[in-house]
Amino acid sequence: KIRVRYAPSPTGHLHIGNARTALFNWLYARHYNGEFIIRIEDTDQARNVADGERSQLDNLAWLGLDWDESPANPGKYGPYRQSERLSIYQPLVQELLAKGLAYKSYKTSEQLQAEREAQIAADEAPHYVYEYEGMSDEEIAAFQADAEAKELPYVVRFRVPDKTYAWDDIVKGHISINANTLGGDWVIQKADGMPTYNFAVVVDDHMMEITQVLRGDDHVSNTPKQLMIYEAFGWEAPEFGHMSLIINADTGKKLSKRDETILQFIEQYRELGYLPEAMLNFIALLGWSPVGEDEIFNKKQLVKRFDEKRLSKSPAKFDNKKLAWVNNQWIKNADQNMVFDKMLQQLVKSDLVTADELTREKVQWLRTVINVYMDGVSYTSQIVPLVKPVFFDLPGKDTLTDSEKEWMAGEDVPMLLEKFVTKLEALPLFTAQAIMGAIREIQHETGIRARALWNPLRIASTRQEQGPNLGELLELLGRDETIANVKEFM
Ligand code: GLU
Repeated sequence: KIRVRYAPSPTGHLHIGNARTALFNWLYARHYNGEFIIRIEDTDQARNVADGERSQLDNLAWLGLDWDESPANPGKYGPYRQSERLSIYQPLVQELLAKGLAYKSYKTSEQLQAEREAQIAADEAPHYVYEYEGMSDEEIAAFQADAEAKELPYVVRFRVPDKTYAWDDIVKGHISINANTLGGDWVIQKADGMPTYNFAVVVDDHMMEITQVLRGDDHVSNTPKQLMIYEAFGWEAPEFGHMSLIINADTGKKLSKRDETILQFIEQYRELGYLPEAMLNFIALLGWSPVGEDEIFNKKQLVKRFDEKRLSKSPAKFDNKKLAWVNNQWIKNADQNMVFDKMLQQLVKSDLVTADELTREKVQWLRTVINVYMDGVSYTSQIVPLVKPVFFDLPGKDTLTDSEKEWMAGEDVPMLLEKFVTKLEALPLFTAQAIMGAIREIQHETGIRARALWNPLRIASTRQEQGPNLGELLELLGRDETIANVKEFM
């Protein structure tokens, strides 16, 4: 039975890269009718943040993922938090000590630091130097008995064999890494008794019967260390797959938390009103593509089409334009009542309207206002800056851009505005059609056309050089407001 897992460290919000790891593990499980497990890797106490676990799971659920086992719904392999599994790790560390495959290491951080500096000065790659080199078993035993009597702090290190570790990576193909490039004997248990990641992850993946480990490419160099532990216990290792790096499509640089041009936490998208289906769709295309040209998929279609052989070896490009496109597709095809409700919530959240102002009439009016702008929207909060200036908070004359000012300074503008107001006042019905008719009349009477006609009228009435159909906008704005807006320029 396929069993895969997502194993977050609760060190912050759900990052886009982790969301991708979770998604592909989930797809793997669902496609092959396997099981998807959440395990919390919280042994690095200093890096854990309060609420980190809840926030991770909450955002995964928002994306539409579900799981078969987790701290809250344990299966038979619990507990599902590493900090609650110490009694499982410690005897295994003892076993390796007893077999001579690991040893207690008493070097102080000052000693290690001095060694590292000397190595760098000698142009060597920093590596740990075996501290019992050349000592007989008796000498080692005496040294350790002395250290124990003094209760000196120690870590447990794994004695790294001099050999090459290789595996057939699900994504990257055959990989082999010589153990002597890994920096020497590494720590499996820290001074505080906590296991390190590379040790605990093996114990857990083995005991939880994980069959495939799909994770980010930054873990490639951890895999040989993990293979050593499987070997030391005589356990069969799972298959490994390392998904390609995510890069910023515009800069070609690795996505880093400092890159401010890309929002990197699922939470942020959620707040802006992205649809979860759209985010899931977009993330699924980071480093994976199905056969064919289609790019819009719902969860069910993704599960069906998932194929681990189509995970890409080359870096996944995070492209904001593509994200906007995918979202726009989802917004357009979504249930429009749902989209409208979300946008209404955004307007309330931004204090453009209060909940008790929302009479049936007002809601109907807002529905029409929002509809006028729908084409340019790819997530729901985008509606706020679109409708705000015209309908809620008209900017003053003095805020016009240089180009807008230039249009308004035209010689014919006073005459155009005069005619516009007179005609609007005289319209029997203030409808989009009638308004457009009035503007065409002005065109006939003056011979002024195109932007020289439309821009001053649009800027005077809406303070914007561009926008949706002017007749529709002004009908929604109403006769009195429209005329008042224009009169400010007269
Ligand atoms: N806790 C590790 C991380 O967040 C998990 C890595 C793995 O999947 O083995 O990177």
